[in-house]
Amino acid sequence: MNLRIFVVAVILLALSLAGVAGPLQLVATTSILGDVVRQVAGGAHELSLLIPPDTDPHTFEPTPQDVALLSQADAVFICGAGLEEALEPILSSARDVVEASCGIELRVFEDGRVDPHVWLDPNNVAVWADNVAAALAKLDPEHADDYRARAAAYRLKLKELDAWIQAEVEKVSEERRILVVDHLAFGYFAERYGFKQLAITPGFSTLAEPSARELAELEGIIRKLSVPAIFVSHTTSSPLVEQVARDTGVQVVYLYVGALSKPDGPAPTYLDLMRYDVSAIVGALGEEG
Ligand SMILES: [Zn+2]
Repeated sequence: MNLRIFVVAVILLALSLAGVAGPLQLVATTSILGDVVRQVAGGAHELSLLIPPDTDPHTFEPTPQDVALLSQADAVFICGAGLEEALEPILSSARDVVEASCGIELRVFEDGRVDPHVWLDPNNVAVWADNVAAALAKLDPEHADDYRARAAAYRLKLKELDAWIQAEVEKVSEERRILVVDHLAFGYFAERYGFKQLAITPGFSTLAEPSARELAELEGIIRKLSVPAIFVSHTTSSPLVEQVARDTGVQVVYLYVGALSKPDGPAPTYLDLMRYDVSAIVGALGEEG
């Protein structure tokens, strides 16, 4: 080996070692998943969000910069279960795609599609934390124990959250536990905490539109059951929601569903988001006086 080749080889080796030791470039699709990745990864790595806070994940459209972001990442964390269906073409440019919902028992809608909104039950987010820890441990084996320990600590907070939600929803009598929502996002929440869910739009996405007959039926149910409020994702501005509220005289309550708020808003973390939503639901459905 001549000296020149040797020097180049040494430099390349040094660069590759530096690459291993340096921070990982991580991307999460949604701000909610990004928060969970941050809890488990700690502050050691660089985390970017594909879909910013306050943005509906169902209608998000990526830019060419987003494609570059994905192709440069060491790992791209997706919720999975079909949430990122529209992003599939650009996800193929990623080196390593980690599906956080892997292993969660998924709900299936009448039309056979799976329900992607797993995070509205904190027990599913505990699975996310474990999957994120396993993926990070694989990428950075030296710190595997740290990731597992952070995931375990976060799981405890999720357990506390779950117990708090159980206690809060007790304030709403069983017959009043009806969530009329803009789209079918609360299936996992409803199942866990004993609610019924009715949606203004027929599909699981915010993109679907009901027929006039479906809308009239829903308004009939709202009147018959004296439903006091309808719950709408804060990223949704739908004339249908306004129409239902106007026709039936119910209150519109905005919740954080598919995205966190910005850091100075009321739901900057997943735990904040759930506490905000549950307080709003209990406040609107709980007995008056
Ligand atoms: Zn949704």
